[in-house]
Amino acid sequence: MKPTPQFDIDLDKHYNATVVIACTECGHETRHNLKTLQPSGALQCQCGADISMDDSAVAQAFRRVGEIKQSYGLQ
Ligand SMILES: [Zn+2]
Repeated sequence: MKPTPQFDIDLDKHYNATVVIACTECGHETRHNLKTLQPSGALQCQCGADISMDDSAVAQAFRRVGEIKQSYGLQ
């Protein structure tokens, strides 16, 4: 199994969620809008490494966005 990349969630002031995926090869961070993120869709780092997020990683990202919004008192 390939390693699942580490990722962080960024919310802008309009609460649009951005996933920041850290490359397991070079550590470069790739930003991707969570709304347009395709589960199992291919994502590549600038170094060519595969940084795709699988279904469970995407689900985890959505869950984390929910938690962040909750902590802001939005839900
Ligand atoms: Zn890379």
